[in-house]
Amino acid sequence: MKRKTLTFIALSVLVAATSTLSAKTKVIAHRGYWKTDGSAQNSLTSLRKANAIKTYGSELDVWLSTDGVPVVTHDRTITPNKLVIEYTPYAVLKGIKLLNGETVPSLQEYLTVAKQCQDTKLIIELKSHSTPEKETRLAEKVVEMVKLNGLENKVEYIAFSLHMTKELIRLAPKADVFYLNGDLSPQELKAIGCAGLDYHLGVMQKNENWFKEAHDLGLKVNIWTVNTREDMQYCIDKGADFITTDQPELLQTVLKGN
Ligand code: MG
Repeated sequence: MKRKTLTFIALSVLVAATSTLSAKTKVIAHRGYWKTDGSAQNSLTSLRKANAIKTYGSELDVWLSTDGVPVVTHDRTITPNKLVIEYTPYAVLKGIKLLNGETVPSLQEYLTVAKQCQDTKLIIELKSHSTPEKETRLAEKVVEMVKLNGLENKVEYIAFSLHMTKELIRLAPKADVFYLNGDLSPQELKAIGCAGLDYHLGVMQKNENWFKEAHDLGLKVNIWTVNTREDMQYCIDKGADFITTDQPELLQTVLKGN
């Protein structure tokens, strides 16, 4: 009887530990869920699709048009004419087609859809602009728009620019802000008020001690862009809090242990 009880307790502890580990890592769809029918990177559909499969977060990239409108797109330039986003007016940008036939969304259009998406958070990346002043202007606009749309509890921020990161922490002190650039230690990120680090897989593999250091400091660890089963399992085994991926359904399968 005693042995049976001990075996039962040992098994229970093992199951609890395993499920805690699996449940701990959360899925973030990189540029929305776009590798699926009818979708495209940073499209409104990619947000709806991420919400439909209930990812923890749906990441998006935001630039400021030359006339001050935040738009959702990734690169510094945009086809068909390689227009530089920050020197192009919104009236031109809004007519440019994405691969799925939608047009480049404004951030406001994105936030409007986000209000209908109950199952996923927005992970908003504010891109690095040509001057600190532009970055501050973008950070001010985005934080204000999120507030006006009542989405403060459904948004986290990420940025490569240290200036942008610090501005987001200043403007939205209650929000989780993560730094992307990979060059600061967990201690340095803690000192500036980051919620955690959001680093490239290669950076974390070179600095494996940062997993523990970050967690010991109460920081979260997010890793990008992790697209293979093997790399996903590495991040899960290391205790990553979030994995950002172009393959959110594969990651969900890996997290279930299949
Ligand atoms: Mg991004």
